[in-house]
Amino acid sequence: MSTDAPMAQSPFDPETSRIERVLCFTAHPDDIDFGAAGTVAAWTRAGVQVSYCIMTDGDAGGFDPAQREEIVRLRTAEQQRAAALVGVTEIHYLHQRDGYLEPSHEVMRDVVRLIRQLRPDVVLSMHPERNWNRIQKSHPDHLAVGEAVTRAVYPALENPFAYPELAAAGLAAYKLRWLWLFAGPEERENHFVDVTDHVGSKLAAIHIHTSQHPDVAAMDRTVRGLMLEVGERAGLPAGRSAEAFHVVAVNGPGTIAGF
Ligand SMILES: [Zn+2]
Repeated sequence: MSTDAPMAQSPFDPETSRIERVLCFTAHPDDIDFGAAGTVAAWTRAGVQVSYCIMTDGDAGGFDPAQREEIVRLRTAEQQRAAALVGVTEIHYLHQRDGYLEPSHEVMRDVVRLIRQLRPDVVLSMHPERNWNRIQKSHPDHLAVGEAVTRAVYPALENPFAYPELAAAGLAAYKLRWLWLFAGPEERENHFVDVTDHVGSKLAAIHIHTSQHPDVAAMDRTVRGLMLEVGERAGLPAGRSAEAFHVVAVNGPGTIAGF
């Protein structure tokens, strides 16, 4: 770990922060598997209930021109099988068009609706800020997910007068405790999860997305290498693998509305 840039302290303390329910927002089928499937596997193994919400159907993905017609059906089925490998069965889709995602009020209202329905302890989302070192992480749809979710969790989620049709439908305002963001800039990372025991499950989940990988062996090597690099950045012993997050305490003991 580099010594000239001290790591921001994670506000998240696993000893005192009970997590029972997590809701994950991503742009495309396979985003969660690349970014956080090891952490998801660790959560579900510990009895945490994890649900996914994927904002597009991934209809612009894949490589085979012959697959265009069936790509959505294919990717939905892939995501369902990949999720099951890390203990997740509940997957929601917002059916936004792949490549066109914006943090619109339509998307934010759908995000608020789902969080109010599930009332998770942690919302996990892609990061709204661009990673300049690995720009492929920062597909515009990924940034749009991060922006939509971050705007939604404060203030609309906790304001009963925001998107009032939701409160009218019986979905009460909800204060979120934790927002975990992934695939952001490295300088934002402040929390690492040791996923060494779940590398196999994560790779197996990634492998399911066969429609997205032209070279499975290279992808496998790259993902393993990146997880080891993150383990090193986290200060773990050599050979350990980790996933990195920017954890934001949205509401805590010291939170005052409006400040
Ligand atoms: Zn993506």
